[in-house]
Amino acid sequence: MEVRRQIEVSGIVQGVGFRPYVYRLATGNHLAGAIRNTSAGVSIEIEGPAETVEDFVVRLPREAPPLARITSVAVREVPCNGDREFRILSSRSGEQVRTLISPDVAICPDCLSELFNPSDRRYRYPFINCTNCGPRFTITRDIPYDRPRTSMSVFPMCPACQAEYDDPLNRRFHAQPNACWECGPRVELWDRRGRRIECRDAIAEAVAGLHAGLVVAVKGLGGFHLAADATNPAAVALLRERKRRVEKPFAIMVPSVATAQEICQLDDAARAVLESVQRPIVLLPWKNPSPIADQVAPFNRYLGIFLPYTPLHYLLLAEGGFTALVMTSGNLGEEPIAVGNKEAIARLQGLADYFLVHNRDILLRCDDSVVRISGGKTRQLRRSRGFVPVPVFLQEEQPPVLAVGGELKNAICLTKGKHAFLSQHVGDLENVESYNFFAEAVEHLEKILEILPQTIAYDLHPDYFSTRWALQQKGVQLVGVQHHHAHIASCMAENHLEGRVLGFALDGTGYGTDGRIWGGEALIAGYEDFERVAHLEYIPLPGSAAAIREPWRMAVSYLAHHFGRDFLALPIPFVRQLDRQKTELLLQIIEHQVNSPLTSSCGRLFDAVAALIGIRQQVNYEAQAAIELEMAIIPADDNTAYPLALISEGEHWLIGTRPLFDALLADLSSNVPAGTISRRFHNGLVERFAQLADLLRKQSGLNRVCLSGGTFQNIYLSEHLESRLSAAGFEVFTHSEVPAGDGGLSLGQALVAAHRLRSQRSL
Ligand code: ZN
Ligand code: ZN
Ligand code: FE
Repeated sequence: MEVRRQIEVSGIVQGVGFRPYVYRLATGNHLAGAIRNTSAGVSIEIEGPAETVEDFVVRLPREAPPLARITSVAVREVPCNGDREFRILSSRSGEQVRTLISPDVAICPDCLSELFNPSDRRYRYPFINCTNCGPRFTITRDIPYDRPRTSMSVFPMCPACQAEYDDPLNRRFHAQPNACWECGPRVELWDRRGRRIECRDAIAEAVAGLHAGLVVAVKGLGGFHLAADATNPAAVALLRERKRRVEKPFAIMVPSVATAQEICQLDDAARAVLESVQRPIVLLPWKNPSPIADQVAPFNRYLGIFLPYTPLHYLLLAEGGFTALVMTSGNLGEEPIAVGNKEAIARLQGLADYFLVHNRDILLRCDDSVVRISGGKTRQLRRSRGFVPVPVFLQEEQPPVLAVGGELKNAICLTKGKHAFLSQHVGDLENVESYNFFAEAVEHLEKILEILPQTIAYDLHPDYFSTRWALQQKGVQLVGVQHHHAHIASCMAENHLEGRVLGFALDGTGYGTDGRIWGGEALIAGYEDFERVAHLEYIPLPGSAAAIREPWRMAVSYLAHHFGRDFLALPIPFVRQLDRQKTELLLQIIEHQVNSPLTSSCGRLFDAVAALIGIRQQVNYEAQAAIELEMAIIPADDNTAYPLALISEGEHWLIGTRPLFDALLADLSSNVPAGTISRRFHNGLVERFAQLADLLRKQSGLNRVCLSGGTFQNIYLSEHLESRLSAAGFEVFTHSEVPAGDGGLSLGQALVAAHRLRSQRSL
């Protein structure tokens, strides 16, 4: 019996080779019908013998191309019309074809084998791509995603490319960036004054520079990298000096998983993430010895490592026979990554010796993404290239909201229907370039999503750039969201939770509703509101920002808080090594409460401990002390945990740190190694928060716990607390799609504002 079905597929199904895939699936089974793009995705009609049609419906989502992301498939019966062939139709005129843009994707295996095949017409062509791979987000000016709206519009296709583009059975059918040696973009090598260097092969010339220990700026997908030979200590040192980056680790790009395995400890999960189409930077334990120069990541037991993702990267690494190249963002300090050729020359002139550029414009900046792996799950540290603009899929439809995020590691978020779109990593809003990038990110996201939200959610911190920006917008409804409430809401949102939860929000800095700096918080929270049920006891933050840069100040603050000036007589190296004059000054500003706001920050507690045990007195990048404190842990069976007090204060609890410091000082006096002290400190936090969860469950009846905030990027802490809570019967929710740190903040802000808006409307 013949039947006909209409199938509506939504999700990311355009620009990913979906129509040719359906064409092949249909014609391969002698089915008739048609497919066309719609505003929601694609619409398919399929006709043939009932059994074959049913089989088609089952296989359709299962065998979809790798880049497709199907969110729903709706099938209904329609009358047969005697079709004998399967056709790809153009979109219905008049209907707006609006759909999700896919992220930038690493070169696929088919293109890679063509790249290195001497008989292929694209042999060694640095811009080879197909519907399964290549640039998307970063070359798209506007939607719908079609060649004229991308930076490929200036390259008319040659007849051979056009024929591929028009052939439904070709891998390059409607591949918008399709190009070849004949018709596409070209690579050139420039000197630091932007003059083209005459040479036969720009890539070979760049390779020669890298081998000579020079720094080469390389144009990638979402911006320029600064490249240097990672096995050459002098080259890495030169790059550090020029970039004015003292100790913050550099990421390295290696030619293959096999090389990654020589440098880092890899398991199957890590291998899969390294090879995934997103190609993030993965933090992995660094093997010792290794061929990589120590200067790549000083004082770090982990190394950020990733595989090539553009054909140009593959050519560079293969041509040069490099074991690894440092590939760090092309910028100075925390400025945004450079994207334009002229911009790169202007901004990176003093940093690079050569510029490997090309003429396919990058329309949108997008840094590399950074992940860690824990419990087999990918944890985002920086969610950017490869992931953006894939939305976070929400449980419920939400009104449109723009959430502007925090100050550091900023990313913004827009909600539309059941989707929350996080922008690429905008970075630290501390310079003019970053402000401009922030405004650019907002404008672009609003444009490609075609919404102009009338509600803006912002952080309560009055000095954040994003907050000030939000407060300047006219004719919109503004919703201030407390920092840690936003963290917990973010965790709830990506885990599709409704109702109320216990939330542990641990991080460095967040403005509290009492005007103090929070960061060691236990909340009972829903999207609309929250109650602060426990927090770390308040300690002065002597010198504010200076205390964040100089962990020794926090150690002194904690010691003075608990022991008064008596601590100066303690027989420990930390005290002996203190600069008397500076310490006296510090004690005075604490005692007179000058520029010493109170804080319950968990990050600052980590800083204090790191300083006390001699790991780090000053930091060169955000959270360095806490990161090195985690790295210092020596794994062992000893489950000793430093005690923390739980003090009832009316309605809520204070977590007291005095007993922790008593135990820690005793260990220090008896020369217990730093690695052991660090472990006992971590265990102490795990134990105390687990007990607190028990207590709060008894009080509130809540059994779901959300863990969020930058401190949970600490794998030891999050893994141990998670397993301890699970063992106690809690349902534990953590982040995997968005960062636990401030990079995921805007998702929570958006959801809080959306829920407040909805309840306002229903009143
Ligand atoms: Zn491809
Ligand atoms: Zn061509
Ligand atoms: Fe935070």
